[in-house]
Amino acid sequence: MKQYIVIGCGRFGSSVAKTLYKMGHDVLAIDGNEEIVQHISDEVTHAVQADATDEHALRTLGIRNFDVAVITIGSNIQASIMATLIVKDLGVKYVVAKAQNDMHAKVLYKIGADRVVFPERDMGTRVAHNLVSTNILDYIELAPDYSIMEISALEAWSGKTLLEINVRAKYGVNIMAIKQGDLINVSPNAKDRISRGDVLVVIGHNNDLKKIQE
Ligand code: ADP
Repeated sequence: MKQYIVIGCGRFGSSVAKTLYKMGHDVLAIDGNEEIVQHISDEVTHAVQADATDEHALRTLGIRNFDVAVITIGSNIQASIMATLIVKDLGVKYVVAKAQNDMHAKVLYKIGADRVVFPERDMGTRVAHNLVSTNILDYIELAPDYSIMEISALEAWSGKTLLEINVRAKYGVNIMAIKQGDLINVSPNAKDRISRGDVLVVIGHNNDLKKIQE
């Protein structure tokens, strides 16, 4: 069990904080707005009202003892940069920060953020992929050229084994998992058979993944 601090509990931050807490982790949620703090207090370990740009306040909260800090202040770039700098300075080992644009991300990396996320942009990409192709159910970009996709099994694959459909040779992608309703097979082997309605989780180069969709 790790200890997380989430700074800035807007829509994205509160979702991160509540999810971590539901997963059984210790979560300290910090926001400058008292009402927001009240609102989230039942769904995290502790919720505190504090200004994330106030080093003294963050120090008093014992922030250096936490494993991970997630800075999700988005709209106020200056506050996001200052909060990232402070938590890094106080010694939090892993800092994830939300950026609004590429320049903001660059600054966050320069001052020591370990990971920068762009929730709106990333979700936009996923939604667009889901819209364009009817058999793509979900999409995660791993690296600029590689992704993981959830696709509906093609009609032609029903009743066939993974060996028979041989997507690795035909498309150059790997099947990581097969979902049948609520059941999921996370280590499928060559003899496993695909049924109509199955969902496949595939990983590969974007160009190869595109071929499956065509
Ligand atoms: P979202 O788009 O995810 O809702 P916002 O940037 O709108 O993100 O939300 C940011 C949250 O961060 C708000 O709840 C706001 O009160 C909080 N916040 C902004 N600046 C500070 C600060 N200096 N200290 C603490 N919390 C802050």
